[in-house]
Amino acid sequence: MLRPENVEICFLILLLDQFRSMDIIENKAAIRKFVKPWKDQGFSVGLVPTMGALHTGHMQLVRESLRVNDKTVCSIFVNPLQFNNQVDLDKYPNTIDQDLQLLEDEGCDLVFTPKAEAFYEGVIPVSYDFGVLGEVMEAENRPGHFEGVAAVIKELFHSINPSRAYFGEKDYQQLAIIRWLVDKQNLSIEVIPCRTIRSKSGLALSSRNLRLSEVGLTKAAEIYKMLNFTRSNKSNYTPQELKEKALTELARNFEVEYFEIIDEETFGRVEEWNETKCPRAFVAARIEDVRLIDNLSLNP
Ligand code: AMP
Repeated sequence: MLRPENVEICFLILLLDQFRSMDIIENKAAIRKFVKPWKDQGFSVGLVPTMGALHTGHMQLVRESLRVNDKTVCSIFVNPLQFNNQVDLDKYPNTIDQDLQLLEDEGCDLVFTPKAEAFYEGVIPVSYDFGVLGEVMEAENRPGHFEGVAAVIKELFHSINPSRAYFGEKDYQQLAIIRWLVDKQNLSIEVIPCRTIRSKSGLALSSRNLRLSEVGLTKAAEIYKMLNFTRSNKSNYTPQELKEKALTELARNFEVEYFEIIDEETFGRVEEWNETKCPRAFVAARIEDVRLIDNLSLNP
C-alpha cells in the first residue's frame, strides 16, 4: 500500500525530475569518468554521434535511444579529420545553443562537446582496409573521409563505451563502415540503424540544407524524385539505363559526383537486376556549392 510518506517521496522525485538539467562535458577523460558508474550500475547507455546543427533526423536517433536505454549521450563534434574539403569544414553550420536546448527539452542525459585538439591528443592515426566499402562512392569521392569517421567513432566508443549506438540510413555507407569497425574490433556495441527523415518535398534532412537558398531547396528535392523514379522503373530499364537517365536529369540542376546502383549488403555495383536481392540507389550531388547525399532501397 502507498503510505503518505511514500507519496511525499514520489512527489519530491517528480519535482526534482522537472529541474533535472542535462550535463555537458568537453573532456574525454571526464566523460569516461562520468559514464563509468552508469555502466557499473548496469544501466544501458545509448550514444548518438552528431556534428550538430541538429534537425528532426538527429532527434529521431535521440528519441530512439531515450526510448530503449536508461541513459542517452549525444556527441556534438565537427570532426575535422572526416572533411577532405576545407571550405566545407569552415562553412559547416553551428547552432550549438539551439542544439543544447533541443537535447535538454527531449530529455537527453549528457552531451559531449569535445574540442578537436584535445580529442585527438595522443591518438595515433590508423589506416584501414575497408575492402570494397573503401573503394566506392563516398570513399572514392572523398579520400580519407572514412578514415576520419573511423577515428572519431573509435575514440567515442572507447570513451563512452555505449551499449548501443545510433546512426541514420541517410549515410548508408557510413553505417556500413561503423558495422565493419565494430565487427573488426570485436566491440560489444549494438549498432542501430534509423530510417532517413525527409522534408515534405522528399529532400533528406541535412545540416547542410541550412546553406541552401529557397530556390536551391526546391531544386534539391529533385534528388529524391530521381531516386523514386529509379525505384518505380526497375522493370522498364536496366540498372545502367536508369543510372544514365538519373545522371542526365540531375545534371540540369546539379554537379553530380555519382549516381550508383549498388547491392546494399556487398556494396558491389549492380549490372543486372537478377544479380541482387537488395539493390539500393545512391547519389551525391552539389547545388549552390553544397554537397548533398541520399540513397533509397529499390525494393518495394
Ligand atoms: P551528422 O550530424 O550529419 O554527422 O549526422 C549524425 C547522425 O544523424 C548520422 O548517423 C546521420 O546518418 C544521422 N542523420 C543525419 N540526417 C539524417 C536524416 N535526415 N534522417 C536520419 N538520420 C539522419
